[in-house]
Amino acid sequence: MLNGQKIITIEEHYWDRDLSARYQGVESFRDAEINKRLFDLGELRLREMDESGIDLQIISHGAPSTQKLPADIAAEVARGVNDRLAAAIALHPTRFRGFAALPTPAPEAAADELERCVREHGFVGAMIHGLTNEKFLDDKMFRPIFARAAALDVPIYLHPAVPHPAVMDAYYKDYMQDFPMVIRAAWGFTVETATMAIRLILSGIFDEHPNLRIVIGHMGETLPFLLWRINQALSRPGNKSNSFRDIFCKHFWITTSGNFSNPALICSMMELGIDRILFAIDWPFVPNPPGVEWIKGTPICAEDRAKVLHGNAERLFRL
Ligand code: MN
Repeated sequence: MLNGQKIITIEEHYWDRDLSARYQGVESFRDAEINKRLFDLGELRLREMDESGIDLQIISHGAPSTQKLPADIAAEVARGVNDRLAAAIALHPTRFRGFAALPTPAPEAAADELERCVREHGFVGAMIHGLTNEKFLDDKMFRPIFARAAALDVPIYLHPAVPHPAVMDAYYKDYMQDFPMVIRAAWGFTVETATMAIRLILSGIFDEHPNLRIVIGHMGETLPFLLWRINQALSRPGNKSNSFRDIFCKHFWITTSGNFSNPALICSMMELGIDRILFAIDWPFVPNPPGVEWIKGTPICAEDRAKVLHGNAERLFRL
């Protein structure tokens, strides 16, 4: 709680041990303190939530989640991952809710798994991390997932993962050794996720599904800052008729995960309105205290702060 307002955080991660064992070397890349927290769905997580006054976490798997599995086993593995998360949530139902991990390499199965998780486990939607076998989500093969999300009326959270191998090679390889974050949270993640969002809009998917709702983190992955320019450029002669700004403002919600910046927040409020902005930390990659301290001191009115802290999430996810 913050001044009597409930605090809900939207992009808070964990790792499933079975899934982790399938991605060789993933644990050794990370700091031991981060690993300890990622594998905790109980005491340590709750203690750090309590220390910062966080009432509810919406928990999601870390990148790349189930997006890099072979298609023939993806559905079965994802079911296990989701069932184990649901069991952990059931132990603390007032403190945790969940995003489903979807077996996107098998899109029809992914759509079914989304429905199963929403109906059986009460998950609030799904989180998808970056590319699936080097394909962006606007590829026609993934349409069943978005159709089902629209039918169920639950949001899809587009989360970053490391860029396409050809992009890493062409854009980042000179600096990846000394700065491993350049392909991740420092820049590569942002480019990849913003590109995903732009491609989805250009694909016309929002004409097919007028109620499809998408969430992106990190204060909108630069898109609020660039909205005017993207929209103006896409309306120049030679482009197919489109309404980029209208689609973005109608179908997208953004979270504050890992981007506790007043200028970024104010820009996002001016472009999207306060009702589209949800509080998130990106725990444990980012610790809770700086996020809560920041939102406490942001130069916005108490009513807007309450919307960011919990009101917008309660409405979007029907909590
Ligand atoms: Mn994250």
